[in-house]
Amino acid sequence: MSNAPRVVILGAGFAGLELATRLSEAFAGGVVVDLIDEADAFVFGYSKLDVLFGRTHLDAVRLPYAKFAKPGVTWRQERVTAIDAHARTVTTSGGSYEADYVVIALGADYDIDATPGLAGNEFYSVEGAARLAPVVDSFPGGRVLVGVCGAPYKCPPAPSECVLMMHDHLVKRGLLEASEITFAIPFEIPIPPSPDTSEALMTAFAERGIRFVSGVRVARLEDDRGVCVLDDGSELEYDLFLGVPRHHAAQVVIDSGLTEEGYIKVASRTLETGFPGVYACGDVATVGVPKAGVFSEGQAATVADAIIAAIRGDGDGARYGGTGSCYIEFGGDRIGRIDVDFLNGPKPIGVFRAPSVELRAEKIEFGARRRARWFGLA
Ligand SMILES: Cc1cc2nc3c(=O)[nH]c(=O)nc-3n(C[C@H](O)[C@H](O)[C@H](O)COP(=O)(O)OP(=O)(O)OC[C@H]3O[C@@H](n4cnc5c(N)ncnc54)[C@H](O)[C@@H]3O)c2cc1C
Repeated sequence: MSNAPRVVILGAGFAGLELATRLSEAFAGGVVVDLIDEADAFVFGYSKLDVLFGRTHLDAVRLPYAKFAKPGVTWRQERVTAIDAHARTVTTSGGSYEADYVVIALGADYDIDATPGLAGNEFYSVEGAARLAPVVDSFPGGRVLVGVCGAPYKCPPAPSECVLMMHDHLVKRGLLEASEITFAIPFEIPIPPSPDTSEALMTAFAERGIRFVSGVRVARLEDDRGVCVLDDGSELEYDLFLGVPRHHAAQVVIDSGLTEEGYIKVASRTLETGFPGVYACGDVATVGVPKAGVFSEGQAATVADAIIAAIRGDGDGARYGGTGSCYIEFGGDRIGRIDVDFLNGPKPIGVFRAPSVELRAEKIEFGARRRARWFGLA
């Protein structure tokens, strides 16, 4: 066995892909990197909304890991079944790995069964979005309810985007007159860290006649009656329900004993878990920032820096900044942007950029850059 330092990365999402890419760029094979994911392809979170509303097909947005070719990195399609942080050992469906550095980037999983009736009615998983796409396509008009079952959830703007894209869909199909849209979320405003963005979204809802129900969670669906029961006991009726499931860390992460209040608590600036050489980044971790791809990627860059510095014997590496920009679909082909800073002031600050067609071009470029960087795809 080679004496080269060994890094095992669990999960090939935004965080895992960026981390593996940076390690490959830094060492070009001088370090052994295993990148482990049970899936065979990566899908950008926002592509699920495009699939849901028939703007694209699943095959067009699946980015196969077979295309992820980086010197020094071996991608392994295996399921992680145990993590021993103390021994820095990982067990998978394909074997076991002992490493100098273990990075847990397994994302947030969905607890669909925690909400009775939700199965088949959620759009947050790739399968869920693909399953609902023909249902949305053939929807004849009626009461649409977009509802959130718990917090935190990935990409806080995504449920609002779903609402506005649904409105566009109904307009395009000539079904608006026969329809009404209701949006129910656990927060008082759509994006709590950014009052400006929230106000713009609530104005957009009001202009479109979308009913906004705040401060509630979906408790269960009685699908046969078309009734959604909220956690305050009140009910909302629907003909079409589009739901965001409750989230939690993957069971293997919970079983590892590393979680606290559902996720792995790490040092916000270094992503260290407290076990030497073991880091957690992205949606699986509690960092003090939202669960979103841009933040996962930024954290992965910090972990890469720390590992590179440690292997080179060159200091501690950079510290995580906690900033990021998220694009928000506002309907009518326009996109807004929110630039957020979570860690550098007394409270989070979100600066809102008004929706425009120029920002759509920027979002397309955001995806294209990563497709090219990670998968070598044009
Ligand atoms: C509808 C929607 C829209 C979104 N829009 C945006 C957006 O516009 N911008 C943005 O920044 N973010 C967006 N997001 C959020 C974004 O997709 C996630 O926050 C991001 O993917 C998290 O990255 P990650 O690397 O932490 O985890 P993930 O990308 O979830 O990667 C985790 C990986 O771990 C693998 N895994 C899990 N368990 C195991 C196991 N036991 N064994 C092996 N592999 C395992 C999974 O297969 C997965 O590939 C959106 C999400 C949704 C649902």
